[in-house]
Amino acid sequence: MAHKPDAVTSWWRRISLRAKVTGVTVGVLALGLLIAGLGTVPILRTALVANVESQLPALVSSDLVNRYFDTTPVDGDPVYTRKDEQPRDFFVAIYDAEGVLQATAGNSSAEAPEFRQEFPLAEAKSSEDTVMPLVGEDGALFSSSVAVLPSEGGALRTQVVAVPLAPADRIIGQYFSIYITIAFITIFIAALLTRFLVTLTFRRLGQVESTAMSIAAGDFSQRLTDLEPTTEVGRLNSAINTMLDRVDGSLAQRDRTVQHMRRFIGDASHELRTPLVSVRGYAELYRMGAIKGEEDTARAMERIEKEAIRMGVLVEDLLALARLDEEREPEIVALDLRPIARDAALDVRAAAPSRTVTMIDLTIESVTAPTRSIPKQEPEQPAPRGLSRAALSRLRRRPRTTPEEPTPAFDFSEAPDTPVRTPPIVWGEENKVRQVVTNLLGNARRFSAEDSPIEIVVDSDRARGTGSIAIVDHGEGIPPQIREQIFERFWRADTSRARETGGSGLGLAIVSSILKALHGSVAVSETPGGGATFTVTLPLAPSRETPAHLLEETQPLERLDL
Ligand code: ADP
Repeated sequence: MAHKPDAVTSWWRRISLRAKVTGVTVGVLALGLLIAGLGTVPILRTALVANVESQLPALVSSDLVNRYFDTTPVDGDPVYTRKDEQPRDFFVAIYDAEGVLQATAGNSSAEAPEFRQEFPLAEAKSSEDTVMPLVGEDGALFSSSVAVLPSEGGALRTQVVAVPLAPADRIIGQYFSIYITIAFITIFIAALLTRFLVTLTFRRLGQVESTAMSIAAGDFSQRLTDLEPTTEVGRLNSAINTMLDRVDGSLAQRDRTVQHMRRFIGDASHELRTPLVSVRGYAELYRMGAIKGEEDTARAMERIEKEAIRMGVLVEDLLALARLDEEREPEIVALDLRPIARDAALDVRAAAPSRTVTMIDLTIESVTAPTRSIPKQEPEQPAPRGLSRAALSRLRRRPRTTPEEPTPAFDFSEAPDTPVRTPPIVWGEENKVRQVVTNLLGNARRFSAEDSPIEIVVDSDRARGTGSIAIVDHGEGIPPQIREQIFERFWRADTSRARETGGSGLGLAIVSSILKALHGSVAVSETPGGGATFTVTLPLAPSRETPAHLLEETQPLERLDL
């Protein structure tokens, strides 16, 4: 569950990235400068004070009385009078042997320290070599040192020297103000530079923005040009371009699909309208009394029934195609093409007893056994190209069946000693493969003469990893220029037979869709001697996955003549 952001988070989110980057950089820089400045001040002050105090020992131990005072003895005690010359950088206080302050000297225009009125000799002696703080009237700070020196009379006197710390503090103050000024200038320049750099970088993102806007406005051809892989923006642009290519591809695909769909719906309604108009026509004729008598009625009914059947076939085909378009994953299993071919041949036999349908299994190395039912081959007939094995002699164009010829019988010739080649066991969905064969056989029957033979050839190619089943007819054939189109939906050759047969034009489209789903293919070629050969190819199932019961079936040489 997404919880509501607090006030700070939502405030932070509202700030632009540019302001964030600039703000954070400037903030961190300012903090760093402040810490550096504040850290330097105490260190610098300590150093300066130490420097000032280092003068004290030399000063305090020198004879400052004679330098800055005139001494006049009064009643044996000296009286100190200030000379004109006064120390400029420090202050002096003189105490007598009793520790009473006698005189002070120093720059009269500068603030003086408040010397103690009394400094006992003993205390002064013990305080030698130490630095003592002193305070001026206005709170100014001084450092002082004391020394006990013999005076001219031989008595001891105490001399205190105080140096002001104000100059050191002044230097610190100056340093700090200069530092702060420089820090502010640095922060200002850093802010400007960061902002400039961020703006410059984000300007490249502006291209992304404008491209996105163009795409939103419908111009899908727009692409980003800054594809430098070393920069983030470059990488982002490459990723966006790839995404745009994909989106473009999907949109084009969608447009194609919609176009196909429109055409498909248009064609389908057109196809359905023709039989409907005809049925309605008959109904109207009947209502108007134009169909009279039993014979007329029977004929009209027959026509109506035929049209209804045609519509039924069309609707069935449309449904089959719609289901295939759903792109449901087919239930692919290993299946043997031979029983499928054999069953298909039997089905034709049942539907058209006059038709000769031969199943040829080319997966057997050689065919040796002669068979009863094969009619005599014409020796001068050349073997079809590409089908060179002995068994292919069966493919030769046969003479049309003559009435005196006996109806061919089943013939399961066996050649148990012939070596077995790769069994035609392929990956597929049985119902679908059967439907493919049925559609192709239906066409073979429709587009060849009633008594023209049909061959169903099963083969396998281990090298290519394919198994195949070919429907070979000897009918009118398909001109090379239309071999591509026949697999399109609702495409029919404009031949008299195509019109007569009343097909929906969907049979081969269904075949092609099924094979696409099963990862197979269908190809059409010319039957040697005339006619069409449709070869369906499916991927061979690896033999270790071939079920044992299927392998057993591969032993006998199968030839089924009908
Ligand atoms: P239809 O319902 O018309 O048979 P198909 O998709 O099955 O639709 O076939 C499309 C066209 O391909 C047919 O109209 C026909 O012209 C041609 N055709 C298909 N099979 C054969 C064949 N075995 N021999 C000749 N022409 C064929």
